[in-house]
Amino acid sequence: MSKNFDVIVIGAGPGGYIAAIRAAQLGFTVACIDEWKNAAGGPAPGGTCTNVGCIPSKALLQSSEHYEHAAKHFADHGISVSGLTMDSAKMIARKDAVVKQNNDGILYLFKKNKVSFFHGRGSFVKPVEGGYEIAVTGAQAETLTAKQIIVATGSSARALPGVPFDEENVLSNDGALRIGGVPKKLGLIGSGVIGLEMGSVWRRLGAEVTVLEAMPTFLGAVDEQIAKEARKAFDKQGLKVELGVKVGEIKAAKKGVSVAYTNAKGEAQTLDVDKLIVSIGRVPNTNGLNAEAVGLKLDDRGAIVVDDECRTSLPGVWAVGDVVRGPMLAHKAEEEGVAVAERIAGQHGHVDFNLVPWVIYTSPEIAWVGKTEQQLKADGVKYKAGTFPFLANGRARALGDTTGMVKMLADAATDEILGVHVVGPMASELIAEACVAMAFRASSEDIARICHAHPSLSESTKEAALAVDKRTLNF
Ligand code: FAD
Repeated sequence: MSKNFDVIVIGAGPGGYIAAIRAAQLGFTVACIDEWKNAAGGPAPGGTCTNVGCIPSKALLQSSEHYEHAAKHFADHGISVSGLTMDSAKMIARKDAVVKQNNDGILYLFKKNKVSFFHGRGSFVKPVEGGYEIAVTGAQAETLTAKQIIVATGSSARALPGVPFDEENVLSNDGALRIGGVPKKLGLIGSGVIGLEMGSVWRRLGAEVTVLEAMPTFLGAVDEQIAKEARKAFDKQGLKVELGVKVGEIKAAKKGVSVAYTNAKGEAQTLDVDKLIVSIGRVPNTNGLNAEAVGLKLDDRGAIVVDDECRTSLPGVWAVGDVVRGPMLAHKAEEEGVAVAERIAGQHGHVDFNLVPWVIYTSPEIAWVGKTEQQLKADGVKYKAGTFPFLANGRARALGDTTGMVKMLADAATDEILGVHVVGPMASELIAEACVAMAFRASSEDIARICHAHPSLSESTKEAALAVDKRTLNF
């Protein structure tokens, strides 16, 4: 006997579990299926984000930041530390505990919102009268039916052709988050967000990190001025970044991995490392869905084809998050999940892709929303720019972290804010003000006239707004 629901969500990452909760809040009966297993084989909802992505990476970034502060910065405050050691097994265990708290939190939320959770793989069986039949296989075998299906199956790390992840020497994000001890030499292929964050963790703990990047520019999607400032800081920290490289053969070395590559000058080089993290992008998870059984259309990357509102090629089937087009970010997946649940309920769910913030949690942190200066130039938009360095911010000086700046871009004619870019302390938190301002279509003058608490890093946003009109007060 099949169990019938109004909505079935396949995948309990941030896109899926949030969609399931919102659909339940709207009065639907909801099932959510997820196959992720914890170490004991039990359910671990939360997807990549909770298990091997956003949350564990931030837990390790926090631990490694504490270590680096104790090793390098406490002395400036008159605090001396002797016999400083790093127990990386304990750091990994703490990270695992943080992950578990989040897994348990989602199971609690499912209960609270009366979402029925099924632990196993969900796949399409066939269309049925007024909906679809979905098989759950694995720990909990069931047959479910529903009129509305939301696919939120996420993505997995892309391997280099012919170089599978062994998670011992050649690591994806999964292995990179559970390296047993600090590697002496760590190699990274790809200087994207994930690679830089992982590299930061192990560099702070003492690893010599080398990043090999195929693109000729560093952080190509980031505003050029901000990327330049970040690069300066990374260089100072000793993070080696080689741009414009062509990676060749990767083979096991006596201890670790040996990477043959050609540098930007065309010279043959070899990088020998203890561990190699490959971070060259992610592939949508559509393999286990049996999409062909119902004729669900995929693109040539294997992503589910959707329109602007996450409708797939099939009536009543929606897809959200990493498995569809657009930025692979947890908050983008969540926003799409909410919007789809609301559309199913006949409401006007809405996601503004121009207002999806980006954050790189390195030190300095990098965050931005809206257009970069190079995009505005390419689009022929006339704009004004204002920057304010943290060097001139009292709170940043008190914190002992004056790296970076806030940069604001506003329309030359209307003064509407078109983009805000931050590199520096707490950029991940500062960017929220910019998102709110841009959502309300604020002008730089609006921000310049709003009272900001003193001393706070957010005063730099106000000063960047004043800088747009060439009237900074503290610089
Ligand atoms: P996922 O989180 O991938 O979840 C999909 C779920 O579906 C998984 O649990 C999977 O097991 C399950 N599944 C797949 N197929 C099936 C099936 N057939 N049946 C049942 N279950 C299935 N984003 C940010 O916004 N901020 C960050 O700081 C950040 N840091 C990151 C750090 C790292 C190291 C990585 C790898 C990613 C990071 N991301 C970050 C990206 C973020 O994790 C993803 O964008 C987000 O998880 C996508 O959510 P999703 O719901 O689409 O998919």
